[in-house]
Amino acid sequence: MEKKAPTALIHHPYRPPEGFDSPQPGIFKASSVFFPNVAAMRSREWKDKTAYTYGLHGTPSSYMLEERLCSLEGGLQCVLAPSGLAALALVSLSLLQAGDEVLLPENVYEPNKSLVEAELKTWGITHQFYDPMDLHDLEAKLGDKTRLVWLEAAGSVTLEFPDVPAMVRLCRARGICTALDNTWGAGIAFNPFDLLPDLVPALCVDISTQALTKYPSGGGDLLMGSVITRDPALHMRIKLTHMRLGLNVGANDVELVLRALPSIYLRYQAHDASTRALAVWCQSQPEFTQVLHPALPGSPGHAHWRSLCATDAAACLFSVVLDARFTQTQVDAFVDALRLFRLAYSWAGPISLVVPYDLSRSRKRWPAQIARGTVVRFAVGLEDPQDLQADIAQALAVLRA
Ligand SMILES: *Cc1c(COP(=O)(O)O)cnc(C)c1O
Repeated sequence: MEKKAPTALIHHPYRPPEGFDSPQPGIFKASSVFFPNVAAMRSREWKDKTAYTYGLHGTPSSYMLEERLCSLEGGLQCVLAPSGLAALALVSLSLLQAGDEVLLPENVYEPNKSLVEAELKTWGITHQFYDPMDLHDLEAKLGDKTRLVWLEAAGSVTLEFPDVPAMVRLCRARGICTALDNTWGAGIAFNPFDLLPDLVPALCVDISTQALTKYPSGGGDLLMGSVITRDPALHMRIKLTHMRLGLNVGANDVELVLRALPSIYLRYQAHDASTRALAVWCQSQPEFTQVLHPALPGSPGHAHWRSLCATDAAACLFSVVLDARFTQTQVDAFVDALRLFRLAYSWAGPISLVVPYDLSRSRKRWPAQIARGTVVRFAVGLEDPQDLQADIAQALAVLRA
């Protein structure tokens, strides 16, 4: 059949030779995926990744990233979400229905709190917050309606490190699903699917989510999330909800994460070394009444961190508590005076970031193990740590003046 020019351009016969092989996998983009015939259209299965049916259901690029993330975290199945927060929402939406209750730690990532308070609540899903540093409090709150328990290690902003294995044991004994927001650990600090290495069978969380926005991306330039499991039935439940909600990630962002993953261990270690040095130095500054960093003896939950995590794995975050005698204006001036630490949310990119937090607004009661004052969280980037220390020192001079 003779084709007119526009048709010939679209249905072009050229095919590049097969067998192209290079360090990075190819990037595949699609909404439509071609089927050779109707029989193939009817029989192809995307749920088990044996074939392709539609861009939303997976491409070679998204399958590739999912498999690599499973390796990173010790899981078996993965779905990708458009942001870390979307991954958290996906888990809750997959597992909870009217009449169920979800438990979250008091130091939970703030938007997850607002998800349960503002969205899930209107659908008849109740919630309670538990003290992550008090096992009895969690145990007392596990009830007949509890379907899901969120865990975070370390906790957002205040970085308390909970007794993760003990918490998972409590929930498992009652058949309650545990979901760990593993953004901090990233699959590097500890294995969420093998919490006590000597134990057989392994003690594991049911679900591990990550904001790939952080370490896996490493660039501060994209948003993505993952939900990883080791149970086919649980995975399928999440995958079907994922499909029905129409969650997708862009292939260019998948490419960026695939490009950054090979250096994630090196970056994590580099962040860790700088962060530790800065946190220790901050302990000697009189304006800081407390330095929160899981690897520092005296930081809340340090013993739990030591028993669960690799010794060089404490990530890029630490927070300081500025003495309560400083006014909000003074603390703001200190933060504004920082030059290398940029004022911005998120972390684990090359540039150091800082955010001041008012715990009295986010917590119902002041956490027992945290000194009174304003919390300032530092996310240490990949700059030279001595320059970062000099930056904090000059901002402290502003505070003293
Ligand atoms: C950043 C973050 C998220 C959310 O990630 P986004 O991609 O920004 O939505 C979730 N949990 C934790 C602990 C985070 O730090």
